[in-house]
Amino acid sequence: MKYIIDLHTHSIAGGHAYSTFQENVAAAYAKGLSVYGFSEHAPAMPGGPHPYFFENFKVLPDEYKGMRVLKGCEANIIDLEGHFDLDDSVLARMDYVIASMHLPCVTSGTARENTDCLIKVMDNPAVQIIGHPDDSRYPLEYDRLVQAAGEKRVLLEVNNTSLSPKSFRKGGLENVQTYLSLCKEYGVPVIVGTDSHFAPQIGDFTYADKVLKDTDFPEELVVNTSVEKLREYIRGV
Ligand SMILES: [Zn+2]
Ligand SMILES: [Zn+2]
Repeated sequence: MKYIIDLHTHSIAGGHAYSTFQENVAAAYAKGLSVYGFSEHAPAMPGGPHPYFFENFKVLPDEYKGMRVLKGCEANIIDLEGHFDLDDSVLARMDYVIASMHLPCVTSGTARENTDCLIKVMDNPAVQIIGHPDDSRYPLEYDRLVQAAGEKRVLLEVNNTSLSPKSFRKGGLENVQTYLSLCKEYGVPVIVGTDSHFAPQIGDFTYADKVLKDTDFPEELVVNTSVEKLREYIRGV
């Protein structure tokens, strides 16, 4: 599979990543991507940027040498009601939003509560992607989650970093296999993201690609292989 889109990347502004926006863009271009997405951690992440960071995206380019550059964020879900650490009005002005649960920002509930929360988040029109729903520290009811993603037309992410042997998330491989098999059964598309915290990781989908191959996951359900497929979820790409 040829991946031409990476929408999950971080920079030094996030507090625990090591490359600049400029380095990220250049690395994405060098990898041959057609669409690069900048999805910085939102303010509740320790060391994360102030909301002004996200309100000043107008200074950044929309493209680089013909490669499309999208500016979004990885918003933190801060409670099981599905609230975020950025106002909806700020989120709505971004090109896209990844919604994620992170340990410093929200305490896990039961699998039912976590799933209800993510389904509620999918109803927020600013959100297009659920980030790394693969962490056993936030158990989920995958059958309900996948069906809701299909109905509400929100993408579940296959996160390359979760599948790395160095990942601190728990149960990644088994959980990804579970939801990929349900996505295949129900015909629900997914997006692959590197979750890069260092520019050379951008566009490197080695671990995710292996799982997609091992589960015989159909290419037509992976949006990263075509800008047209992505456009069905993110307008203005
Ligand atoms: Zn994350
Ligand atoms: Zn991330």
